[in-house]
Amino acid sequence: MKRREIFAGNWKMYKDYNGAVALVNGLKGGLGDIGAREVAIFPPALYVREMVSLCTGTRIDVGVQNMYFEKEGAFTGELAPAMVKDCGARYILIGHSERRHVFRETDVEVNKKVAAALAVGLDPMVCVGELLAEREAGTSEAVVKTQLVEALKGVTKERMAKVVVAYEPVWAIGTGKVATPEIAETMHRFIRETLGALYDGATAAMVPVLYGGSVKPDNIAGLYAMENIDGCLVGGASLASDSFLDIIKVK
Ligand code: PEP
Repeated sequence: MKRREIFAGNWKMYKDYNGAVALVNGLKGGLGDIGAREVAIFPPALYVREMVSLCTGTRIDVGVQNMYFEKEGAFTGELAPAMVKDCGARYILIGHSERRHVFRETDVEVNKKVAAALAVGLDPMVCVGELLAEREAGTSEAVVKTQLVEALKGVTKERMAKVVVAYEPVWAIGTGKVATPEIAETMHRFIRETLGALYDGATAAMVPVLYGGSVKPDNIAGLYAMENIDGCLVGGASLASDSFLDIIKVK
């Protein structure tokens, strides 16, 4: 079975309004024929509704970078899942390493967010990945397994059709140190095996697993050639339409 292939751009806390509009227009203008490939952008939340309307009728889906798991309430500064859905987003990024390590988000919170996203019909893009110290200690697989198992607690096999996993080794995010295709493929295969043990082979074979961590136009080809790498989640190189388009159009 052919899995979905997704090229996602996480804009983090970059771009002002005019910059966001220019970037999305650049992407739209340069996309051309990308076959069955899918594109997703994660702009700052304040610009999402505008980006959704600019992307309507194009191949670009829009997502939000973070939300809270409660339905509503006195949670100043937070976004409710229904608000994210209501503004037209398809995806919600959950458990990005900056959320886990800068904002101390836990596996329990990640799991609550996954459940809340699915409850309102959003597609969760769930990020997992080990720290450099964990890789050096030989615990990468154990760390990623725990993150994945905890994130997906209570998620049914049927609901997995909406879930995307992104493997993002923390030591490779924003550092310029990309994982080798072999290291990434080993981890992606491990993630798929873990999904197989949690659900079944067919579910594991269907879930897109994206690689993230210093993906650039000059290193995407080796990663994309790997059997279990179904696209990528790109930070820095998604902030300019030319470099993101080069990544999306990798041969
Ligand atoms: C990210 O933000 O998810 C990411 C992978 O960033 P970068 O591509 O800049 O390493």
